[in-house]
Amino acid sequence: MPLISMPEPDPDILARSPQILAALRAALPADALVTDPSETRAYDCDALTAYRCAPLAVALPRTTEEVAAVMRVCGDHGVPVIPRGAGTSLAGGALPTTDSVVIGAMRLREVLEIDLENRFIRVQSGITNLSVSAALAPTASSMRPTRPRSSPAPSRATSP
Ligand SMILES: Cc1cc2nc3c(=O)[nH]c(=O)nc-3n(C[C@H](O)[C@H](O)[C@H](O)COP(=O)(O)OP(=O)(O)OC[C@H]3O[C@@H](n4cnc5c(N)ncnc54)[C@H](O)[C@@H]3O)c2cc1C
Repeated sequence: MPLISMPEPDPDILARSPQILAALRAALPADALVTDPSETRAYDCDALTAYRCAPLAVALPRTTEEVAAVMRVCGDHGVPVIPRGAGTSLAGGALPTTDSVVIGAMRLREVLEIDLENRFIRVQSGITNLSVSAALAPTASSMRPTRPRSSPAPSRATSP
């Protein structure tokens, strides 16, 4: 199968990568920035594994303020940002480029507000369907994903 060419990285960004990484380190807790290639490898692709590319860095923020800090640094330095949830997209949507920073949302998994009367729930962007369902379980409500495969199938009652 012929592969589509990846976009060429911006050589200017690559040349400035030490300053960019220093600015990210200054903006985030130490454990919220991944730069070692052996660790960023897990973020080189999504479920479309035919394409892989190591990013400059992976940021794993825990708060909105940390997301804003990463966006500020990347904006100031003209660095592309790749948002990533669980990386299950089959379309390469979370595939980085060499000159980009991945923002992984997997630590942003809080339920912020449940408003049953208005059938409304506000959550952070990295939460899974399963965790939303678990948060709603005590209320006897449930969230139906767009397709059942997004969550494990409910166990079926069997008649004796
Ligand atoms: C085995 C399998 C089964 C699947 N079953 C279903 C199914 O039943 N129903 C269904 O709907 N889908 C299904 N999918 C598709 C997949 O779950 C969707 O593509 C899902 O949207 C990916 O979510 P993610 O968090 O992994 O996002 P990623 O793969 O990380 O990203 C998907 C896209 O969203 C962007 N993105 C991610 N997080 C953010 C954010 N916080 N802010 C802005 N943009 C963001 C990324 O840049 C990318 O473009 C399935 C996929 C697989 C591999």
